[in-house]
Amino acid sequence: MKTKKFVLATITAGAMLALAACSGTGNSGDGGSGDGGLIGVAMPTKSSERWIQDGNAVKAALEAEGYTVDLQYAEDDIPTQVSQVENMITKGAEALIIASIDGTTLTEVLQTAADADIPVIAYDRLIKGTENVDYYATFDNFLVGQQQAWTVLNGLGLTELDGTPIDGAPEGPFNIELFAGSLDDNNAFFFFNGAMDVLQPYIDNGTLVVKSGQTAIEQAATLRWDGETAQSRMEDLLTANYSDGSKVDAVLSPYDGISRGIISALTDAGYTVGDEWPIISGQDAEVDSVKAILSGEQYATIFKDTRELAKVAAGMALALLNGEEPEVNDTTTYDNDVKVVPSYLLAPVQVVKDNVQEALVDTGYWTAEDLGL
Ligand code: BGC
Repeated sequence: MKTKKFVLATITAGAMLALAACSGTGNSGDGGSGDGGLIGVAMPTKSSERWIQDGNAVKAALEAEGYTVDLQYAEDDIPTQVSQVENMITKGAEALIIASIDGTTLTEVLQTAADADIPVIAYDRLIKGTENVDYYATFDNFLVGQQQAWTVLNGLGLTELDGTPIDGAPEGPFNIELFAGSLDDNNAFFFFNGAMDVLQPYIDNGTLVVKSGQTAIEQAATLRWDGETAQSRMEDLLTANYSDGSKVDAVLSPYDGISRGIISALTDAGYTVGDEWPIISGQDAEVDSVKAILSGEQYATIFKDTRELAKVAAGMALALLNGEEPEVNDTTTYDNDVKVVPSYLLAPVQVVKDNVQEALVDTGYWTAEDLGL
């Protein structure tokens, strides 16, 4: 089975060999080799598939331009990420591309970067509380949240996937529980606020009922986006609010790994697919979750093409290194508490069972084999 990852690894290895042959130098570890300088790429964790895709794609894009790449993963440990970035600066990185774990913890190390005139690109997650972040490459994160909520409403038969109300839709009420991401990740607020922008009117008019009453992001949050944390919160919600025989009809989930935790809790509590199984949202189009969509456990995910994001972020770094101005399409939304960071926002795509093939296989993101199709 030849997965996309293998193909990418093969291309990358091939490119590295070719470059090493040209320059007559070998290379070690994660670094590539080329005539360009070193670029540091800091990713949060390998525990989620998307960041592996991201890291590989950024590395390949920079190496294709002759740069050497120091790609590091911090396993969601903040001090590890800080010291990885410090090391990149010490090694002479000419630019940094950083997907932060906690967006507020890099202020000091980014001052060191600024003192050395090293440009910094925030990758997918906004870096907060510092003027020393130059550009931001991400998706339209508020729209991601709206899209997640629309998939939930669509699964309940209330709206189309774009939020248009369906004539003759059921009146409900439907029981829904809400999950949010990690509060140290700025995106968590955009996703939750986007989703609540859509859901609140349905809660206000009684179509949706949050039996737990937990509608504040602080109550719904999941530290480090951890699936097991979400699973145990879902277990608690079911015990506390649904032991009277009532059923939860929908769960707003901001990320596939959280959705999988929720699915485990529901299964353990005796819910069965096909028999009042709730509508569950997600994000990132991770393989196991796309399979869960195909089997009916998860209703939807949001596909964010990491290949495109990698291209944008790498392009920003390369532009800055060439003395050019990177292209942006948003200069108002992403205020990091010190400044508004000029951003390039990509468009997220909703995926339900019906468009898995079109959105994920036809675009080459996953192969049919990856998804067991
Ligand atoms: C990303 C999401 C991802 C989440 C957990 C967020 O910052 O935007 O795509 O699901 O982190 O890794």
